[in-house]
Amino acid sequence: MSNSSNRWSLVIHGGAGAIARSQTRPETDAGLRAALNAALDAGSAILAGGGASLDAVEAAVRVLEDDPHFNAGRGSALTYEGKSELDAAIMNGADLRAGSVAGATATRNPVTLARAVMEQSAHVLLGGEGADAFSAEHGLEQAGAEWFATPERRRQLDELLANGGKFDVDMKYGTVGAVALDQAGHIAAATSTGGVTGKRWGRIGDSPLIGAGTYADDRGAAVSCTGAGEFFIRESVAFQINARVRFLGESLQAAADEVMSEIKALGGTGGVIVTDASGNTAWSFTTASLYRGRANAAGDRTVALYDDED
Ligand code: ASP
Repeated sequence: MSNSSNRWSLVIHGGAGAIARSQTRPETDAGLRAALNAALDAGSAILAGGGASLDAVEAAVRVLEDDPHFNAGRGSALTYEGKSELDAAIMNGADLRAGSVAGATATRNPVTLARAVMEQSAHVLLGGEGADAFSAEHGLEQAGAEWFATPERRRQLDELLANGGKFDVDMKYGTVGAVALDQAGHIAAATSTGGVTGKRWGRIGDSPLIGAGTYADDRGAAVSCTGAGEFFIRESVAFQINARVRFLGESLQAAADEVMSEIKALGGTGGVIVTDASGNTAWSFTTASLYRGRANAAGDRTVALYDDED
């Protein structure tokens, strides 16, 4: 996927997983595609109008956070205790500003909370009660546990507990993310997730860790990850892809494929979406599905769910 003459581009994901086409009900398939298109619409409108990539990735992720099909915001995977503990990050490639939250429980759109941390605090990453307090103090829209927890996520947790509570990274789907290039030539990345079903003890995944699940640098690449966070953290996946592009001159596709094969070799699974400041884009994944979409100034638009598409 290379569109180096385009003035803007947007790539989104709605999570990597072991969900095959044959396991997806037609109405779920249609709902996923509609939501991915709505997220592309929200981000594309900003980019086509000359808006910032930072605004576009936030807007696209907010749409997916509000949609219960995805493991972010409403519909997040539940902890062992049946709670919603949300992780999110955002990064601006022009100046390497970044913000993130881990274990937030009360903000309707965690990506917007991550952006508030970036823009309105002296810090990069806030966790747990502190993230919730910062959110309330800064007037962000709050939401209760009943907003985040859906019957489907409760069913998944019950299934996991019935199986002895054994941690299973495939018992979730739908972490969301976006990467974008704007007409000013700047890139940005954002990621949001409920983490993994049955997580305990304040477990934090790769998504809110700058350099692991999320990264953006105009000189390299903007990256958003999804998959088994414990593996993505150890490979510094997002920063590593950016560094391969920036320092080794690898193509986005080569860098993404190489790092995903490292994840696979470690025993992990997942996927990534990538853009650079020239408008090149790529995605790479090791799973049966990566819910994904892309759009650009040339009018190209793709929405796909399974590994046998595009
Ligand atoms: N990477 C996320 C985590 O480990 C989960 C996912 O992408 O589905 O928290």
